[in-house]
Amino acid sequence: MERNVIIASTLEEAVGCKTPDAAFYAGGTEIGRLGSPVDAKTLILLKKIPELYGIRVTGDPETENPSGSWLRIGAMCSFQEILDCDAAPAWLKTAVRYLASLPRRFKATVGGNIASWRSDSYLIPTLLAAGAKLEIAGMEGGEDPDQNGNGAVPGRRILALKDYMEEREQLGNWLITAVYADLSHDLKVLSEHFSNTAQSHAYLSLAMGKKGEDYRIGMAVAGCGIYAPGILSWSRAWKEAGVRDDLYGSEEYKRYLAGITLDEFYERLNQEASVN
Ligand SMILES: Cc1cc2nc3c(=O)[nH]c(=O)nc-3n(C[C@H](O)[C@H](O)[C@H](O)COP(=O)(O)OP(=O)(O)OC[C@H]3O[C@@H](n4cnc5c(N)ncnc54)[C@H](O)[C@@H]3O)c2cc1C
Repeated sequence: MERNVIIASTLEEAVGCKTPDAAFYAGGTEIGRLGSPVDAKTLILLKKIPELYGIRVTGDPETENPSGSWLRIGAMCSFQEILDCDAAPAWLKTAVRYLASLPRRFKATVGGNIASWRSDSYLIPTLLAAGAKLEIAGMEGGEDPDQNGNGAVPGRRILALKDYMEEREQLGNWLITAVYADLSHDLKVLSEHFSNTAQSHAYLSLAMGKKGEDYRIGMAVAGCGIYAPGILSWSRAWKEAGVRDDLYGSEEYKRYLAGITLDEFYERLNQEASVN
């Protein structure tokens, strides 16, 4: 397919060019793969925008409390950069390693993974369980002083990944600029990625996080979707997902697997909390 390519050098330019016919291009591993669902006439390359790179420890992005401990990961950071970062928490590195292909670890970006919103996602269940936040930029909610788009300033938002999940349909033209991971010592996150081999797609991905007395679940079921149910309502979310029998196993088998895994996560998180 013939496509127009725009090499954006600023965030304003990238966001200003985004229309429903255009797609942001990060690592290209999802856009470029065989059978990709991305069918855009224009690609907006993000690789020259400095603001989308870098990993640093910062305060809570919502309250701007400098004493809060969060990790800001620029959307263009690759999976490998997260693995190489000393400040990245172990639970995040576990999820990053679910992408077993080394060449793709160097190309695939965190922003591209979240935006792809795949039901076998490497990162999203863990990030949901960890209460991760996103920083996004879009022309909606921005300022356009001369009403012609010249010098228009994009709107910026910080929101929980769980809220992004609920608003995703309306945020199609927004650029993910960064992901924030909570570095608090009292946050514990466990995850599991069920697939036939390390290199194949996950048919079930589960994660549970505990911070204080709050528990969060991230659950992705291939072919069905991504869910963030409460610990007492995961089986309702499972029913609503309409999980089917397939070559990976029956619906009953996958429900059993989800049940025992979440039970085990709960036990382990409680044990760890009582030891600390
Ligand atoms: C063989 C193969 C197997 C794969 N298996 C899996 C798998 O099991 N699980 C999985 O999760 N992924 C899988 N992928 C997809 C992919 O490798 C990852 O999801 C990757 O993280 C996507 O990142 P990217 O930078 O390459 O995204 P790109 O391909 O550049 O973009 C993907 C989508 O995200 C949008 N986008 C990119 N960056 C942003 C941004 N900053 N803000 C808003 N939108 C943006 C693009 O417009 C596009 O729609 C597979 C890919 C291949 C080739």
